[in-house]
Amino acid sequence: MQPLIEVGILGATGVVGQQFVARLARHPWFKPTWLAASERSEGKAYASVAPWRLTTPIPDELGPKTVEACTPGRGPRVVFSGLDASVAGEIEQAFASAGHFVVSNARNYRMDPLVPLLIPEVNGDHLSLVAEQQQAKGWKGAIVTNPNCSTIVLALALAPLRVFDLKSVLVSTMQAVSGAGYPGVPSLDILGNVVPFIGGEEEKIEAETLKILGSDGGRTPHTAMISAHTNRVAVLDGHIMTVSVDLGAKPANDDVIEALRRFRGRPQELELPSAPHPPIVVSFDNNRPQPRLDADRGDGMAITVGRVRPCKVTHTKFVALGHNTVRGAAGAAILNAELMAADRMFA
Ligand code: NAP
Repeated sequence: MQPLIEVGILGATGVVGQQFVARLARHPWFKPTWLAASERSEGKAYASVAPWRLTTPIPDELGPKTVEACTPGRGPRVVFSGLDASVAGEIEQAFASAGHFVVSNARNYRMDPLVPLLIPEVNGDHLSLVAEQQQAKGWKGAIVTNPNCSTIVLALALAPLRVFDLKSVLVSTMQAVSGAGYPGVPSLDILGNVVPFIGGEEEKIEAETLKILGSDGGRTPHTAMISAHTNRVAVLDGHIMTVSVDLGAKPANDDVIEALRRFRGRPQELELPSAPHPPIVVSFDNNRPQPRLDADRGDGMAITVGRVRPCKVTHTKFVALGHNTVRGAAGAAILNAELMAADRMFA
């Protein structure tokens, strides 16, 4: 048996940080030994400063742990980041420069041409950017990012459809409140309501999806046109979206369904611990997927696609759903780190 790899968590107290804590505490390869957050939390026991919002309890060994400042060189070589974007840029760069591998959720470096924007099932080959990144930036460590929580659902659903000549995509999201962090959207704004604007989200979905589906580490974006609408809805967890795609090859509907059902990637081949089997669950029920019933599929790591049917305007339309703080954040970053570990990048 391999020795456990020690890992740290930057932003351990936040919504995403809590998912890191819960999932890493039971991980077969990684052992969380270092928790860091802002000055507000520094020097205090984790359980006293993390506004715990998960249904599983705080892991016994981490609740009493003292939260430290985000100081490079203090924690283990591998750190996960659930830092607020307002501070992630500077802190993550300082850690990478000091020799840490930063596996990040934050948006700051996602579109950097030398930083992989990774979905291991879709573009694991983009990890080849890490060596170039280290050379160009003079870092001993590196930054690897996962996509925005809606992008990851959309890009995973589109990946199997590339073989059908993906030409254009229209997507409308309905996004859970947990996507806005804690305390997030005020209850008076969201209860009994839909807010048809999430700052910067549409631009992120459009740009990130094309980088992920692109070639040369994403430096040559995919040529499809994408238009996104984003909405915040009164759902706790799980981003759901309606998607219409123009497929130049005009496949039969059954062939589209089969491509989605058969889709697998390196995490499934390598049997990585967080890999869902299958990564895309295709539902045949008319009223699915639904956030409450389907967000936890595959331990929160599988996306669900349903209502795959012909579209009179484009070619095909469907509904897709994924867990925003798991597959869309902490679980995605952990899967990224598993692929990096399997590729011996931490050796
Ligand atoms: P959050 O609940 O607001 O947590 C933010 C974290 O950042 C907290 O641990 C906070 O520590 C820490 N922090 C804030 N200011 C800091 C500073 N000056 N120095 C050090 N640490 C600081 O946010 P979240 O929802 O977990 O999101 C975290 C990141 O993941 C964001 O970049 C977000 O865009 C991204 N993301 C979120 C989701 C989602 O579904 N929520 C999905 C994908 C990506 P204190 O508690 O000590 O203040």
